[in-house]
Amino acid sequence: MITIDVEDEKKEIVRRYRRLLRRAKPFLKEGDSKIIRRAFNTALDAHKDMRRRTGEPYIYHPLEVAVIAIDEIGLGTTAIVAALLHDVVEDTELEIADVRRDFGPKVAKIIDGLTKISGVFEQGTSEQAENFRKMLLTLSDDVRVILIKLADRLHNMRTLASMPQNKQLKIASETMYIYAPLAHRLGLYSIKTELEDLWLKYTESEQYHEITRKIVDTEEARNKFVKRFIRPIRRELKTQDLNFEIKGRTKSIYSIWNKMRKQNIPFEEVYDLFAIRIILNSKLESEKADCWKVYSIVTDFYQPNPDRLRDWISTPKGNGYESLHTTVMSSPGKWVEVQIRTRRMDDIAEKGYAAHWKYKDSASNGQSSRLERWISGVREMLEQSDSSAIEFVDDFRSNLFHEEVFVFTPKGELRTLPHGATALDFAFEIHTEIGARCLGAKVNQKLVPLNHLLKNGDQVEVLTSKKQKPSEDWLRFVVSSKARSKIKDALKEERKAAAAEGKEIVKRKLRQMKLKLNNETVEQLRAYFDERTVLDFYYKVGKGTIDAKAIKNFKEARSSIPKDPNERIEDAASFTKQKVKVRQQQSDMLLIGEDMDVVDYRLAKCCNPIPGDEVFGFVTVNEGIKIHRTSCPNAPELLSNYGYRVVKAKWSSQMDNAFLTDLKIIGTDRLGLINDVTSIISGELNVNMRAMSIATDQGIFEGKITLYVQDTGHLEVMIRRLQKVNGVVKVTRIDTTK
Ligand code: MN
Repeated sequence: MITIDVEDEKKEIVRRYRRLLRRAKPFLKEGDSKIIRRAFNTALDAHKDMRRRTGEPYIYHPLEVAVIAIDEIGLGTTAIVAALLHDVVEDTELEIADVRRDFGPKVAKIIDGLTKISGVFEQGTSEQAENFRKMLLTLSDDVRVILIKLADRLHNMRTLASMPQNKQLKIASETMYIYAPLAHRLGLYSIKTELEDLWLKYTESEQYHEITRKIVDTEEARNKFVKRFIRPIRRELKTQDLNFEIKGRTKSIYSIWNKMRKQNIPFEEVYDLFAIRIILNSKLESEKADCWKVYSIVTDFYQPNPDRLRDWISTPKGNGYESLHTTVMSSPGKWVEVQIRTRRMDDIAEKGYAAHWKYKDSASNGQSSRLERWISGVREMLEQSDSSAIEFVDDFRSNLFHEEVFVFTPKGELRTLPHGATALDFAFEIHTEIGARCLGAKVNQKLVPLNHLLKNGDQVEVLTSKKQKPSEDWLRFVVSSKARSKIKDALKEERKAAAAEGKEIVKRKLRQMKLKLNNETVEQLRAYFDERTVLDFYYKVGKGTIDAKAIKNFKEARSSIPKDPNERIEDAASFTKQKVKVRQQQSDMLLIGEDMDVVDYRLAKCCNPIPGDEVFGFVTVNEGIKIHRTSCPNAPELLSNYGYRVVKAKWSSQMDNAFLTDLKIIGTDRLGLINDVTSIISGELNVNMRAMSIATDQGIFEGKITLYVQDTGHLEVMIRRLQKVNGVVKVTRIDTTK
């Protein structure tokens, strides 16, 4: 019995190999089939005795991957050779040097890239992220590495049934997380769709089968409808002597499922279950005119919905997609999407990047270069960003998913940004420096804030200021990974510098206070100031949010903690507990005189000082010391005529500079803005404002407000509240302690 199996298998291997050659035949040049044969024999020999989990001979897998590379991606001989050999270095005795010797450096480089990114890695781990990052690095070397990786993944997904269930889920979700979006971004529509469908099959198996069944059940009715719908169009296209093909295309199972879930509707209510696709065999120079001719014919028979017209011929998508879409009303009162495109466009839509190369020489200007630009953008990001791998993958993924928005520079140059991009994204797209200094923008001549959402066709001019610099909240309104990573880089730089400075200050301070600088002390400091990490603590010291005096308080607090020999404070947690007890005893009070003592006093009725106010004490004849605000209407008289009776006074909280804060508010100038801001501060939030200065420039409003806050939590509430004021773009805290 076993001998028969092996014989059958041998035949089957040869059959499959011949199929591969047949598929490759149309583009094989002289000598190519010889190289492919050599690669096949090498792989066959290296993988001999190995079997896939399905029980089949291992060689089926590289053969299938090579077929996918040809059929679905449109790759050529080098890629076929690489596909056949893609697992030999990882899984067999063969080494990369052997591949280089036998198949040359090009193939070796691709195999090397594939080997580096192999293995299943768990989602969300840094290892996985690092792997993904490596994969993207190969994108800029040779994009074929990723294309073959996608073919490999597709075949593994097709044969996923033989895997144990926990592995199925792991591989499927990884596919959905990274590979499907990547396929989408590279324009590999059919691979993306199949990966998504397979994901659904293994994660929501019941619903997958249910939808599949319903698609089959409704097929006949649908075909009838399509036939009737296209009949008049077909006739007219023929009369006009156009060479074409019309198909009815059903939506993918995954997108039907997605729509049902998102709109919470049953299968029967998904109105756009299918689309009509008209593919023209058209000469390159008349492509656009022909497509619009067809559009005109279609809309002669059916009324179009003007909101649903999409012209991706004049402005192709970033992944190279070109097509003309319209949605028209059919006779039984149903909307039907009609996609009009040429054979070349269809090829690119299905096979993406690789098909681009095929048409590159003849394609009209700049269209294939958009994808190249994307790839070089990826390269740039990888080279410059020092964000952690996980962060990077998150940013990058969000970029993969986005649809796009097309905008123009003042000179009329077209730029593509992810959907949801703001003026700030645009600024970073132009140049990192311009992004970092961006203050606002003019969109279609109108002044807008940084976070203004861009729409298709907007013309954008960036306004910059030398004083401007990136801040944390900018991350809330950028969507492009370029802007995100640049802002993060800038923030990290700033943070690092401040933390280094802070560390020096702490060192100096501890030396002065005769405390040892060791891990224990630093850890206690971190706990005392409630910081999450030591770096956070250093950073705040560097920024001046925690000042020298506060560190001095730490020493006192530390020594005032009773030293119970049984309960030594070694870990940060117990220290924190003790510290809270000590702190609760302190409340805001007035310190009076040169020595800043706690003396009895009364608050003057004429100006009603409150904690935080700048004040002075005045020694009265009968009522002891009275406290006035320095801005009290009586102050000038008291200070000038009775200087000898004036004593210094300060709130204990004021001694701690952390409570005196400067805020910068940037916004678009509008009538009443200042009023709104100040009424929120002093009215709604009851915060004491010390000073305010405002400058407006080209319609941009920039204000500096100095005020007292109780603590950082309080400050955050205020910043959040102020940010909601209409016209306010940005509220940030500025460092004033120098
Ligand atoms: Mn493989």
